[in-house]
Amino acid sequence: MYPLKAVILVVSETASKDPSTDKCIDALKDVFAANGGDQWKVDTTDIVPDSVLDIQRFIQRWSDSEDAVNLIVTSGGTGFATKDNTPEAVTPLIHKHAQGLVHGMLAASLQVTPFAMMSRPVAGVRHKTMIVTLPGSPKGAKENLEAILKLLPHACTQAAGADSRQLHSGGVKKLEKDAGVSSGAKSDDKQNGHSHGHHHHHHHGHGHGHGGHAVPRAHTNPEDRPQSNDPSAGPTRRYRSSPYPMLSVDEALGLIAEYTPQPTVVKIPLNDKAIGCVLAEDIKAPENVPAFRASIVDGYAIRIPQSGAFEKGVYPVALVSHAQAGVIPSLKEGQIARITTGAPLPPDASAVVMVEDTVLKSKTADGEEEAEVELLTSEIKDGENVREVGSDVRAGEVIMKKGEGITAVGGELGLLASVGVKEVTVYKKPVVGVLSTGDEIVQFDRPGELQLGEVRDTNRPTLLNAARAAGFEAIDLGIASDKPGTLEERLRDALRTVDVIITSGGVSMGELDLLKPTIERKLGGTIHFGRVSMKPGKPTTFATVPFKDNSGTRSAASRVIFSLPGNPASAVTTFQLFVLPSLHRASAITPAGLPRVAVCVDADMRCDDKRAEYHRALVRVARDGMLWASSTGGQRSSRIGSFKGANALLCLPVKKGVVAKGEKVDALMMGDLVSEMGMS
Ligand code: AMP
Ligand code: MG
Repeated sequence: MYPLKAVILVVSETASKDPSTDKCIDALKDVFAANGGDQWKVDTTDIVPDSVLDIQRFIQRWSDSEDAVNLIVTSGGTGFATKDNTPEAVTPLIHKHAQGLVHGMLAASLQVTPFAMMSRPVAGVRHKTMIVTLPGSPKGAKENLEAILKLLPHACTQAAGADSRQLHSGGVKKLEKDAGVSSGAKSDDKQNGHSHGHHHHHHHGHGHGHGGHAVPRAHTNPEDRPQSNDPSAGPTRRYRSSPYPMLSVDEALGLIAEYTPQPTVVKIPLNDKAIGCVLAEDIKAPENVPAFRASIVDGYAIRIPQSGAFEKGVYPVALVSHAQAGVIPSLKEGQIARITTGAPLPPDASAVVMVEDTVLKSKTADGEEEAEVELLTSEIKDGENVREVGSDVRAGEVIMKKGEGITAVGGELGLLASVGVKEVTVYKKPVVGVLSTGDEIVQFDRPGELQLGEVRDTNRPTLLNAARAAGFEAIDLGIASDKPGTLEERLRDALRTVDVIITSGGVSMGELDLLKPTIERKLGGTIHFGRVSMKPGKPTTFATVPFKDNSGTRSAASRVIFSLPGNPASAVTTFQLFVLPSLHRASAITPAGLPRVAVCVDADMRCDDKRAEYHRALVRVARDGMLWASSTGGQRSSRIGSFKGANALLCLPVKKGVVAKGEKVDALMMGDLVSEMGMS
């Protein structure tokens, strides 16, 4: 038989620190070898602590790639202790739940001990990979795997896309025979596995104790939930609460950092498009600046005689050198040349005497030019008032380093231009597309009055502008209606032309909120988060979608989709807070995201006792030189007016009560600082 690829992920705080304490990997490998009928190859094993993100990272790595494995078994973290969170990590990743396998494992364990009730296993399919969570005790893990292992090859081949009609052609009896199981009776292996009545504990806590009294959080028991709302399910099947775990803003930003695709490198001409780009390699000056010996002042070029000191006195003005291209004859001893600032020194000239240190003695016959000039000083050194070749920038010198940005201030562009750099190798800035969703949304400048229920598209112009102001190319993707097919089509089109799609609307709990199901069920995307504990912006969603290039082969690159809430103030806030850092990371701009400063609030501000609030405000530098923030008023998430005149988002802490007038909070600066101090 063909070998199926399995991986084992041990979830244990203790074993992650000291792998030698782990006994599960060996126990489970034995089960695969003894009961697996040569069908299994245990490919990889790994150990992670009880961390949702770590667990999810491994599972996604093994199930989302082109060479996904057939089976992932985890061991540990399925109990009731506070730290146990394997089911919480795995559940949101599962596309199809396998309650039957869960039941099979529990039923088998219950025959051994009532403590089986203390395990909270989950099982199901993600893309083409079967995932099963086993308890953390080697014995419990072994028994659970033994209970279902015979059935897994069938489940895995089906999940991997085998033709199910062919698989089922022999009927259930044939399937049972192939699997070595029979209905009504347990398999022989199973019975040999253990003796009944044997005292047996499932140790789920890995040393951090049996937290049997801890109550699971609301999202911790969602065995029977598919991932997103199934649009085809009728009213009774719709969720009444979001199945996505509620993340903190920092956790969400962590996932954005992790799943934003790595920057790619391009060579572009040095022009305004290069502004805001970060260099992907060091730049060496191809030329010297100045390229010739140039005078720093207006005055007279002199030649210091070989014999030694230069004498003051009256000299003939033999030639004139202006700042212009051309050939200049060389200066002989005893001659001087009139020279302007920036003009090349004649060959053999030594230094320049400033015009202030000279007196005109005589003019040419036509009165047009100077004939003789008296130099009033002899204290002039070789090279004085001369910019030597390469004294500003030497050819070959590294003038900018990889990772440095070309800013809009202009210094970098100027430096590069001065040495004749015409192309730069930079990290490609992602191209952004902005799509509004909703059957009620109409083009904002559509002629005529609104009909009942219509809403002017506020988000698209605002988000397009925000992306462009941040220096990114932004493409208008229009408005998509709330019909499943339409949305999928619009997103697919967009995936071909842009790197990052920003949608707004359609991420709430309504049955027409199709973004999440479309991304997961139609585009094969992964939703990294779908709920964030913040105000406004709770339903903000971040996903990546595998990208197929034109040849149809799946490339390593993925596309990013941000689905922002529909309410305009929420959409802009979440753009600034989440989309911007992702765009920055994709183009290697550091630090990613808005700059943070500490400001004093000029009036009491009420805080939310559950969610971090991002309050629109105007931050100004007062006459005392301190930064003060004033609220821009009503913060309802539908009120875009709260962004009018705002240049910052105040980060209000989660607490009962207020931040009092004069107290400090952090502000994220979206726009320019306003100063009451003036320029001077
Ligand atoms: P949704 O999440 O689609 O239910 O949208 C939440 C709210 O935001 C609804 O009141 C929508 O009408 C509104 N909304 C959605 N998209 C936009 C938009 N582009 N411009 C203005 N309001 C919008
Ligand atoms: Mg909508």
